[in-house]
Amino acid sequence: MLAAQLRNAELQAYIHRLMDEGRLPVILPEKIAAGYGSGSNCRGCDQPVTPTQIEYDIEDHSNGSVRLTLHRGCYVLWQIECVRRIHKRDQGSLPIDAIPHAW
Ligand SMILES: [Zn+2]
Repeated sequence: MLAAQLRNAELQAYIHRLMDEGRLPVILPEKIAAGYGSGSNCRGCDQPVTPTQIEYDIEDHSNGSVRLTLHRGCYVLWQIECVRRIHKRDQGSLPIDAIPHAW
């Protein structure tokens, strides 16, 4: 499930679009709780996180109040892109080979 999500280019593109549109914030969250899914909808893919899946609950208060629920795979894809965008913003640009593209 995790590996499949990380290799899912469509999901990756969808998460990037949510970030472009401001529907997912560009943050490195202060607080993360992981557990089994509660059935809440994932903010990355809009599908429920079922009790057999790992759910990540994100809390961040550095820029208003943010609470998000994400699948583990969606969380990883989102955070990789957050790191990339924050680096880009802070340093102008990042060498393309510094971005993990292994999947
Ligand atoms: Zn998801």
